[in-house]
Amino acid sequence: MGKTLQIGPLSVPAGGKAFGYLPVTTLASGAELGVPVHVVAGDEPGPGLALVVGLHGHEYSAINILREVLQSVDPARLRGHLIMVPMANPVAFEYGSKSTWIDGLYGGPGDLNRSWPGSPDGWLTERLAHAMAHEVFPHIDVVIDFHGEALGARNRNYYGYVLKTTAEAMSNERLEELAVNFGMEVLIERHVEPGPGSMTSFAFSQGVYVIGAEISDFYGLELPEGGRSLPGVRTLTETGVTGVENTMKLLGMIEGEPELPAVQARLRGMAGVGPRHGGLLIPAYSPADLGRLFPSGTALGTVISANSFEQLDVLRMPYERGMLVMVKGDLPFVHVNPGAGDFGSYVADAEGMVWIRR
Ligand SMILES: [Zn+2]
Repeated sequence: MGKTLQIGPLSVPAGGKAFGYLPVTTLASGAELGVPVHVVAGDEPGPGLALVVGLHGHEYSAINILREVLQSVDPARLRGHLIMVPMANPVAFEYGSKSTWIDGLYGGPGDLNRSWPGSPDGWLTERLAHAMAHEVFPHIDVVIDFHGEALGARNRNYYGYVLKTTAEAMSNERLEELAVNFGMEVLIERHVEPGPGSMTSFAFSQGVYVIGAEISDFYGLELPEGGRSLPGVRTLTETGVTGVENTMKLLGMIEGEPELPAVQARLRGMAGVGPRHGGLLIPAYSPADLGRLFPSGTALGTVISANSFEQLDVLRMPYERGMLVMVKGDLPFVHVNPGAGDFGSYVADAEGMVWIRR
């Protein structure tokens, strides 16, 4: 039997499940602010796996993945333990925003994925990070970091990161194995240094492995021999649940062989293609085009003035050949800002792309 887990105010005996909140603070209104957490403690001791949704509060679709995992996981057949945070930034979620609105109002940036390791008496966002850094991270070996705007919102992303780091305690081979095994069809390399800032940087400084998933519905890779790698849509929830189960299988937490797609594409980098001028973006492609390849110069979208309706900008594929990995989904147009971060689309560099087939 495993021993009792103590996570914040929760005492979870081996073989048990629990739900509660990591205390953060009391808001001016008197409302208690806490980070919600589900814990599933296996009968047998083993690795700790955390699932984190909502470092960005508007990226909440992956909550459905956690719902399904919580229903299906059986503590009696689990080695180790699962810690699930369905909404890491409840304040941003309240406003449907990426970052903490209160911190933005008074001057702090409020991005919970730039606030680690946090502080017990700092900005609200730093307190949220601190609660997770102190109550969750000491108990885990791997964390899955779910991103991707909610379905029905502006952006549809589909890719997993192959994370690389110079952190001494980490193995880049293991990071790659975890990324491929999670099982998203699109895999993009990204270097992250250990230290303060993102949750991934903090995790690497603690020797904790990270799987990063930018996730939405997906219609398959465009194959070099023609056609797509999937017969229809692969849903966000199925992709995520399969990825969590694949990870638990790799870590020895549950029995079974990982279920991997027939084709994965590993790409070496990506870029946002953003407008020089804000206005209304008329996207040239839809979420069904994620995973498709386009030559240099392909028009990915047009920006028009919301006032005069004149054309202000055409967004074009910057790579010799690139894969569409984020698109703004809705016609007739989507509001865009010229500032960093509000890109018209994301594209991955297809030069030197490696196909993984099985
Ligand atoms: Zn995000």
